[in-house]
Amino acid sequence: MKGTMIGLEVHVQLSTDSKLFCSCPTKGSDAEPNTRVCEICLGMPGSKPVLNKKAVDFALKVALALNCELNTEFFFSRKTYFYPDLAKDFQITQYEVPVGKNGFAEVDGKKIRLRRIHLEEDPASLVHESGARKSAYSLVDYNRSGIPLIELVTEPDMQSPAEARRFLDTLLTTLNYLGVYAHGASVLKVDCNLSIDGGSRVEVKNVTGFRAVEAALGAEEKRQRSVVDSGKKIEMETRGFDEASQSTYLMRKKETEEDYGYITEPDLPKVVVDSKWLSSVKAGMPELADSKKKRFMREFGLSEYDASVLASDKGLAQVFEETAKADAKIAARLVSRELAGILNYNRVKLGETKVNGKGISELVLLVKGSKVSDKNAKESLIKYVLEGISPKEFLEKNNLLIDVSSSDLEGIVKETVKENSSAFSEYKSGNEKSLNFIIGLVMRKTKGKANPKQVQEILGRLR
Ligand SMILES: [Zn+2]
Repeated sequence: MKGTMIGLEVHVQLSTDSKLFCSCPTKGSDAEPNTRVCEICLGMPGSKPVLNKKAVDFALKVALALNCELNTEFFFSRKTYFYPDLAKDFQITQYEVPVGKNGFAEVDGKKIRLRRIHLEEDPASLVHESGARKSAYSLVDYNRSGIPLIELVTEPDMQSPAEARRFLDTLLTTLNYLGVYAHGASVLKVDCNLSIDGGSRVEVKNVTGFRAVEAALGAEEKRQRSVVDSGKKIEMETRGFDEASQSTYLMRKKETEEDYGYITEPDLPKVVVDSKWLSSVKAGMPELADSKKKRFMREFGLSEYDASVLASDKGLAQVFEETAKADAKIAARLVSRELAGILNYNRVKLGETKVNGKGISELVLLVKGSKVSDKNAKESLIKYVLEGISPKEFLEKNNLLIDVSSSDLEGIVKETVKENSSAFSEYKSGNEKSLNFIIGLVMRKTKGKANPKQVQEILGRLR
């Protein structure tokens, strides 16, 4: 078999209010260490876990959104291992029967198959004062212990690090639409596996962040190629990714699943998702990115590009829908190109700004009525994103709305032509630069309040 095969195991913290098996709060990760804990998430003898139904709802939603077959009857298992991040020496997870299986996500028209999606508890976090590989000791913070996670396991269907990154982008969009993921509050943790040309599979453990996943896979692919090129065989092993040197390093020869000694969790009853429960979950499913994109193309006549940009971000899609009434084409252009570009350039998320549908609608109407130049419209959007001043307010305050009457404008154009007769004759002989020069002068005279298209029309008449 030729080529690169990549599979991912993605761990996502669910944004429930309380932990998976106790009522400790999940929020406030900045709280003092070991203050959001109880006997259950500390694994004290005799404590009994109680399942958080909301976490099951969230996991079912993710499974539905990713086209999985659902298991409506499932149970939990203990995955036994000895490590200080789990006080009770086992993690409660799902092994034999996951919430969902055999799903897929569509990435650029290609199906990436999902083997399974299951629920489990997050272990505690270990704090290494001077880096994981140098510290003489580790501190343990159990605030994270017991936060609900879903683990998604893909088939090795991705063929390049870039494709793996796009899969993660698609996944994140879906999680955001479902509202099950606390953006910014938690990081996606990914175990990546990669093989080349049908060789042994190497796992790169615990990579955090999308850019790091792409980089780790790129580095591992390169390493395997050079091992093969030197005539050696790839060994099955587990590696880590070192961000600083952008390379992977050997952690251990791979252990097998059986090493964990899974047993059924005796303290939790079997979960049965009956039809009433399932229909309430289904009723709560939002419109997802792909159907939204298709609807935007159908309903508003948008190009596929504009529709994808808008649908790929829940917030942008919402702003667009609120402004489309004013004028769908102008709204699509302002939101998918200008606004998205400004956010991107300044590395700001829409949710961090004061930008809303009302403010953008006002701008759409001004653009539609030719009351603002493209340059000033963009300027007002920048102010809106960075300073929270609505475009209309900004344009009014700074006298940037086009309100020069036609007769006044004609006078100003004639005057400018008179003062710049040589530029005007160059324009008459077809010089584009001279045309722009004269328009620029008129715009300056009118303090940007004239419509450049109208100025050009008048010049055309005077020619
Ligand atoms: Zn607790």
